[in-house]
Amino acid sequence: MTNTMKVFKFGGASVKDADAIRNVANIIKRYPDEKIMIVVSAMGKTTNALEKVVEAYSKKTGEAFALLEEVKQNHYKVATELFGADHPVFSLLNDTFVEIEWVIEDDQQDGYDYIYDQIVSIGEMASTRMLAAFLVHEQQKASWLDVRDVIRTDDTFREGRVDWETTGSLCQQKIPGLFEKNDLIVTQGFIGGTQENFTTTLGREGSDYSAAILAFQLNAESLSIWKDVPGILTGDPRLFENVQKIDRLSYKEAIEMTYYGAKVIHPKTIKPLENKNIPLYVKSFVDPDGEGTLISTDVNVTYPPVVVVEPKQVLLHISTRDFSFVTERHLGFLFQQFDKYRIKINMMQNMAISFTVCVTERSERLALLISELEKEFKLVVDRNLELITVRHYTDEIVESLAGGKIILFEEYIRGTMSMVVKEVPKMIRK
Ligand code: ASP
Ligand code: MG
Repeated sequence: MTNTMKVFKFGGASVKDADAIRNVANIIKRYPDEKIMIVVSAMGKTTNALEKVVEAYSKKTGEAFALLEEVKQNHYKVATELFGADHPVFSLLNDTFVEIEWVIEDDQQDGYDYIYDQIVSIGEMASTRMLAAFLVHEQQKASWLDVRDVIRTDDTFREGRVDWETTGSLCQQKIPGLFEKNDLIVTQGFIGGTQENFTTTLGREGSDYSAAILAFQLNAESLSIWKDVPGILTGDPRLFENVQKIDRLSYKEAIEMTYYGAKVIHPKTIKPLENKNIPLYVKSFVDPDGEGTLISTDVNVTYPPVVVVEPKQVLLHISTRDFSFVTERHLGFLFQQFDKYRIKINMMQNMAISFTVCVTERSERLALLISELEKEFKLVVDRNLELITVRHYTDEIVESLAGGKIILFEEYIRGTMSMVVKEVPKMIRK
């Protein structure tokens, strides 16, 4: 396999309109004669807009077509700005959208998650058509790849699980030949294909993960994720003043940060890179000269405190009905239920006759879990909370973050402090 290839990932914000797409092309031109696999998300907020189409279709509100039409027109508008009124990309875009028009013309027969993936995935199909065409238009040796031909998943729709082995051999079969004739391959993030050729998605914001999968399979020399921030920061710049960029980060530190909810990169991105020791750069598409953050094997640095705030938290206080102790048998049962409903536990603690768990709000699945647990246990559910995690905490920073809030739950383990807080004191009794 080409051992000098790089993988670049461009998210929705980096391709949100015609100027943004021109900017991406300019970034790519900074790497002449390099082989680059370019993984792209849907343009701007397209995925959210397509989620509305799915909603409208499944609830039969009659608005699905109009909503889809808006998405379509937005793409045509950008295409017109990039290429003028007449260009082969229009028929490619049209083919992409027509497939979905066929889906929503019929009454819903299939499961919601299946339909979701078939509809929502066209955001990435369309954005990659646009970028690939624009790179060619700019005299780049670029080609478009349907990622569903190389990333194979099972049929867990909306959360496709990657079949690494098959994906590996599909990548070996299809990609080197494309790189012989082209320098650049543009493909979709976020989506994959099943053995039966159905489209799956890998979970919201999954394009980083797609890029890591491809980097792994192609033994890329590096992966660069281009973002609208200068790199990985010590906190969310929308929530905090004076956040700092972190220049170097170990894989371990990065995986911990993303696990606690840091939104800079998708949590699943790190493992494949770590397994093959592929460096990850998080860089700014606004300032491509900036150094960004380099994530790689352990580095000897002292980290500043890093704050991650995860909203929409729910505390479940689970207690035995008959005042008996919470035993390992109870815990075994509880963990099985969390696994069954795919609810991730962010924090937990057990006491004599109760067990408290902090999870992220996932309305439908959480409701199912709660009703299942209520068959056996007494539950008190506390919603609208925030989980604040500080890696490498100092007392000052914890104090300033906790100020004015009620701490419901806190934990200090080896340099990491986590607290679940709320603004207004209100307990909702079930
Ligand atoms: N377009 C998808 C989303 O917005 C995937 C991604 O952006 O990573 O969730
Ligand atoms: Mg996106």
